Amino acid sequence: MNKVEKQERCALFLDRDGTLIQEVDHCHRPEDVVLIEGAAKALKKAKADGYSIVIVTNQSGIGRGYFGEEEFQQVQEEIQRQLGGLIDATYMAPDLPWSPSARRKPAPGMLLEAASQLGIDLKSSFMIGDRKSDIDAGKAAGCRTILVLTGYGRENQEAGADFVAQDIREAIELALTSQYKSC
Ligand SMILES: [Mg+2]
Repeated sequence: MNKVEKQERCALFLDRDGTLIQEVDHCHRPEDVVLIEGAAKALKKAKADGYSIVIVTNQSGIGRGYFGEEEFQQVQEEIQRQLGGLIDATYMAPDLPWSPSARRKPAPGMLLEAASQLGIDLKSSFMIGDRKSDIDAGKAAGCRTILVLTGYGRENQEAGADFVAQDIREAIELALTSQYKSC
């Protein structure tokens, strides 16, 4: 046995639509990307504090045939451009809501994949999102959860999140000052 323990990282798992960027129904055009106010500055601070920034996003618009993976990638590139490259990784589930899926939130598959591929300690990490499915996925993965009131957040206040924040800026502030952070 190797006695040197692998250093694991903390992550902020971010839902994309309604959490990181303004909710647009099935956003698939770079020109529709509008960051939630304060997101860039807060994420920069989180990154400097040692967090990995990972997007976990359901994109059933792909499964439904509304748009393709290429358009999804163009939107991701625009987000990275506006954030100055702060996103470390993106996990996307194109699955349809009515098909069984281990990846589409509320299932925790994307978070578990990220943890194994990036060496993330889930119990020291946060899932931030605007829907109950984000909170359920975060809980199932063993993360702390923060519901934001942007996007569909106001309709999901009973989601049972550990914390509720006005927006991503406040959510990140909570995570950075949290007693649960240990990496
Ligand atoms: Mg959302």
